[in-house]
Amino acid sequence: MKSQQIRKQFLDFFASKKHTIVPSSPMVLKNDPTLMFTNAGMVPFKEYFLGQKTVVDKRIADTQKCLRVSGKHNDLEEVGKDTYHHTMFEMLGNWSFGDYFKKEAIAWAWELLTEVYKIDKDCLYVTVFEGAEDDNLAYDQEAFDFWKQYIDEDRIINGNKKDNFWEMGSQGPCGPCSEIHVDIRSAEEKAKVAGKSLVNQDHPQVVEIWNLVFMEFNRKADGSLEKLPAQHVDTGMGFERLCMVLQNKQSNYDTDVFTPLIREIETITDNEYGTNEKIDIAIRVIADHVRAVAFAIADGQLPSNTGAGYVIRRILRRAIRYGFTFLNTKEPFIYKLVTTLSKQMGENFSELKAQKQLITNVIKEEENSFLRTLDQGLVLLDGIIKNTHGKEVSGKKAFELFDTYGFPIDLTALILSEKGMTLNEEEFSTELEKQKSRSRAAAVVETDDWVILDDDPEEEFIGYDTLEAKVKITRYRKVSSKKEGNLYQLVFNMTPFYPEGGGQVGDKGYIEVSNGNVIYIVDTKKENNLIIHFAKSLPKDTSQILKVAVDEKQRFRTACNHSATHLLHQALREVLGEHVEQKGSAVHSKNLRFDFSHFAKLTVDELRDVEDFVNARIDSKIPLKEFRNIPMETAKEKGAMALFGEKYGDTVRAIQFGQSVELCGGTHVQNTSDIWHFKITSESAIAAGVRRIEAITSDATKDFYFENNRAFFEIKDILKNPKNPLKAILDLQEENTVLKKQIETLLKDKAKNLKSDLIQEVKPINGINFLAKKLDLDQNNVKDLAFDLGNATDNLFLVVGTEKDGKAFLTCFISKNLVEEKQLNAGLVVRELGKLIQGGGGGQPFYATAGGKNPAGIENALKEAEKFIL
Ligand code: ATP
Ligand code: MG
Repeated sequence: MKSQQIRKQFLDFFASKKHTIVPSSPMVLKNDPTLMFTNAGMVPFKEYFLGQKTVVDKRIADTQKCLRVSGKHNDLEEVGKDTYHHTMFEMLGNWSFGDYFKKEAIAWAWELLTEVYKIDKDCLYVTVFEGAEDDNLAYDQEAFDFWKQYIDEDRIINGNKKDNFWEMGSQGPCGPCSEIHVDIRSAEEKAKVAGKSLVNQDHPQVVEIWNLVFMEFNRKADGSLEKLPAQHVDTGMGFERLCMVLQNKQSNYDTDVFTPLIREIETITDNEYGTNEKIDIAIRVIADHVRAVAFAIADGQLPSNTGAGYVIRRILRRAIRYGFTFLNTKEPFIYKLVTTLSKQMGENFSELKAQKQLITNVIKEEENSFLRTLDQGLVLLDGIIKNTHGKEVSGKKAFELFDTYGFPIDLTALILSEKGMTLNEEEFSTELEKQKSRSRAAAVVETDDWVILDDDPEEEFIGYDTLEAKVKITRYRKVSSKKEGNLYQLVFNMTPFYPEGGGQVGDKGYIEVSNGNVIYIVDTKKENNLIIHFAKSLPKDTSQILKVAVDEKQRFRTACNHSATHLLHQALREVLGEHVEQKGSAVHSKNLRFDFSHFAKLTVDELRDVEDFVNARIDSKIPLKEFRNIPMETAKEKGAMALFGEKYGDTVRAIQFGQSVELCGGTHVQNTSDIWHFKITSESAIAAGVRRIEAITSDATKDFYFENNRAFFEIKDILKNPKNPLKAILDLQEENTVLKKQIETLLKDKAKNLKSDLIQEVKPINGINFLAKKLDLDQNNVKDLAFDLGNATDNLFLVVGTEKDGKAFLTCFISKNLVEEKQLNAGLVVRELGKLIQGGGGGQPFYATAGGKNPAGIENALKEAEKFIL
């Protein structure tokens, strides 16, 4: 059965059990400070479990793109080495939000596996939670009793907290679970070792395929558990592992999910899969990682130096490194796999098709730059090896190479071992640990539990219509970190404060407490479904009704910049073409930043056209049209571009200014004329095929023009207020050029005069025309003069001393015939005399120079010169 069909059957099965089928949510998370990537199918639904969002569909099923490369779920180091863990994988799941529980979850899982997919019952084992004393949790008798109806008792295995109590992170929803394991070994092997003894023992052919989680608790900050308001089911089945089982393969990489990629890697790199363990691992790593990176880029996460972008960069670099070391790839090639990937998965995940070109370009550029790093690192490592006495290379040096130049440590170790050397790994680990604890100390954030004052799940956002409100605090908690000290996070029953999101900064403002005192709100952010206000302190009486107000001026400037961003987007598509797509934006009160796909630097004319386009729309006084809570389809009909990254169940908001229609949750001006004026301040490249424009609007443009104007007046003032300042500057420049030329001529004349003077001073000694003299000339002129004198005088032995900026110079010229006949050598002369000016030098036998730091030695050197010919 093809993987496409396997996926479809899963969804069809749960649709038949009255589940709503929804598309995968993004893999890259935007509004979650606790998590960078979706690491399990339940992540997009976490608010439902926490009771922070009203449930619309009580039963849902989907396939979710997951990434397990950081935090609690990190499989990165396993990937490639084993055959059943991936970085990016699809998790098939069915959900009950306060609807069915253990009985149905178990019955349907069994029915799907054994009746629809027809997996042999004798291959299956299940686990149930054995209980845990430290958490005061009992054995999951209920799950055991349901399983017993379908499967032999001796195929039901007890599992401990590590395997059978599912937790999303250190805090949050959790509960006991039941896993389903499949034994796909040969009959012969099964006869030798019982499958039961291999469950949860990391055997590559006895693997967990499905986990049914019975969510009933919330883990609090102090580690204790509290009952959730309702019971839920959350299941996750690894799609690639299911394909392995159903396609009778022994490895996920032998299923049709991976074989097209592997064939392509074999062809490009001229290696064969299945012949050599190291090559096989490298091929698996690359086939896996290109998926993770491509999906992340499609979700809007470009590789970068911080946060989620850095994680993506590291995954890609791991793939590059494996290729470089084991497949001997010294040129970019991973980008070539994107075509195969998008052909294969584009049907189900259209974002891959839509963003194919960008993904390809970004990966290629990353490959190029990391391969350069590797080249540079190899040279540096060579230097370290040369300077190493003995066979062991310092761990400190290797750490430097790793930390400063990004050169991978395993590559260092490998190269050393090839040369019969070793690395002081202990020293390296110590350095690494030191660095880690430095950054850990800086990043520790302690988050207390929420203090719930009012259990109202929906916090209404009223900030599109008003900037002030009377509100109630519904919950608050204290957060402390080294960096920011103590802060309080407050949630209100409703709020006019816009939380950071969609590229726009969070609102600032204040809470009015008694006697006209205020508490400042320094930032507003969204966490899952909650709008959180950050305050330095807590109102004394938290149950009081409080007046809160948003900082009007900052909000207005931000709105100007946000609306201008939309017009800029429209302008770029108009001026540059339809290939322009938004790749990121940052809207602040001071300025705006817009990243977009385009392949060349914008010309001055294009920038001008873009500015003019936006300013024309500002001049046309276009009123805002806003559509709230409309379905995605309606927004598309209005002309909004379909964006990836919307979560199921979200209705959208569309913002229209004339022809510009965008899906946007941000705050905007009522009329484009409010923006007053738009000015681009910079244009640059931020990645392959991605450019960035920074711009300002309204008050900031006034300041910009004011500052420019002031500079202009200051220049005019210095120029003594000419009628035409531009002409005055050009005149000055021209005058300067003329003067420079005159000086040059004068200096040449001076040298000429000097020449005739000097010829008079030449002394004949032993048939040699000798002259040693200190001159006030610079080195270039000395050279010209020396050769001129050489032409004019036969048998010349000349030494000239000069001085500049506290340094001393000696020049020696000897006629060529003297060099041969008398075995004289200018190089030797300056080397000897150079000592007297505390320096050294060299050159040819007929012409050489020396420099030194002791001008006082020049006189002495000139005196000594004579002795070379005596
Ligand atoms: P394992 O012990 O094999 O790592 P897990 O306990 O981490 O699995 P869960 O968190 O329960 O797995 O995830 C649910 C399902 O997702 C698993 O049963 C498995 O089929 C699949 N899965 C988990 N991690 C990966 C991964 N890294 N790559 C592919 N599939 C995975
Ligand atoms: Mg795991």
